[in-house]
Amino acid sequence: MAELQTVEAALAALLRDVTTTPAELLPCEAAAGRVLAEAIEARLDVPAFDNSAMDGYALHHRDAGKRLPIAQRIAAGSPARPLAPGTCARIFTGGEIPPGADCVVMQERVEVEAELAAIPPDIPAGDNVRLRGRDVACGDSLLSAGERLEAAALGHLAGQGITEVMVRRRPRVALLSTGDEIIDPGRPLAPGQIYNSNRPMLRRLIERFGAELTLVASIPDDPAGTRETLGAAALEADLVISTGGVSVGEEDHVKAALESLGQLDLWRLAIRPGKPLALGRLPGREGREVHFVGLPGNPVSCFVGAWIFLRPLLGALQGCPALADLPCLQARADFSTRTGPRRHYMRVVLEFGGDGIVARAFRDQNSGVLSSCISADALAVIPADSRVEPGDPIDCLWLRVE
Ligand code: AMP
Ligand code: MG
Repeated sequence: MAELQTVEAALAALLRDVTTTPAELLPCEAAAGRVLAEAIEARLDVPAFDNSAMDGYALHHRDAGKRLPIAQRIAAGSPARPLAPGTCARIFTGGEIPPGADCVVMQERVEVEAELAAIPPDIPAGDNVRLRGRDVACGDSLLSAGERLEAAALGHLAGQGITEVMVRRRPRVALLSTGDEIIDPGRPLAPGQIYNSNRPMLRRLIERFGAELTLVASIPDDPAGTRETLGAAALEADLVISTGGVSVGEEDHVKAALESLGQLDLWRLAIRPGKPLALGRLPGREGREVHFVGLPGNPVSCFVGAWIFLRPLLGALQGCPALADLPCLQARADFSTRTGPRRHYMRVVLEFGGDGIVARAFRDQNSGVLSSCISADALAVIPADSRVEPGDPIDCLWLRVE
């Protein structure tokens, strides 16, 4: 029997020659979660002018310790006039520091009597002043290409007055289900049938990974129908995913159809769950190559396969390095286990305590038990041919990410 292959080898094959989706210009309001296709340079200083961090009094630090006439009032949004030496300005948070002032004293420290503000002594220059360009200076690199536009990045763009950005088009995904026993919820089950769990589960994951499902279909269980469905799906998508029907030895129309339409590699991976994985390419529109990933039918294998294979692939299609790897946390196992020739991705809950992280394994790690994925915070990576005892350090791939 052929050697089992590694996840790393399959990933390298999957990520070879991936071309990013085209860039498109979007209004910033519509760009949340998208990946930047361009680097963005700051065109404004933020803050745009020196301003007060407090409600209080602006003055030159040399005038600290004196009683100063209040020469002007500066609210946020109103312009400041130059400040004469020996005077101060009433100022509010965000108000512009007037030329001639270099510090602000908070109002709680100032007594005002007969229109004179009694300023405490020893106020250093710069106190309570937010300097122009402190956050971002004009010309600074603001955001890099490949960055996913999350909350703070969107705030940063708006801070620059930017209204539209070039982002990667969401990868289009066609999701095809195999299996004569699989039917959609909403219909009664006949004996031997089961509902399609993979479709909604993968839809959610695919969307979290920044892509959109443009086609869902079931692959009919005959060679001509399989070819037709796969061929048509490739015209609508950047990536075609199928579930089921890649187990070795099965009468498998997907494999034959792919081999006649494009190209297919069947991988027997040294992992649990999800040993069989099919990777290939299909002809798409305008001579483009469309990626094909055939996940095993088992819902737990699909779940793990989506995190391990689909996320980096969708990341590469969007040019987004953050999607390439899952964050890896080191935890202590609260269980014992041993592995054979396959690496085990165990579904675990992580508990963050004073003396580190503890990984608690779901009681039933059988690959047919989807409940194990419901509350999984992480996939604990148990190397092949190893044994783990309670307290041993293990690597856990954190799943509570986008
Ligand atoms: P297969 O990879 O086709 O041999 O399927 C492995 C197991 O997963 C079988 O028990 C299938 O019935 C089950 N299965 C396949 N596809 C799905 C699906 N979409 N939803 C739920 N279970 C599935
Ligand atoms: Mg099947």
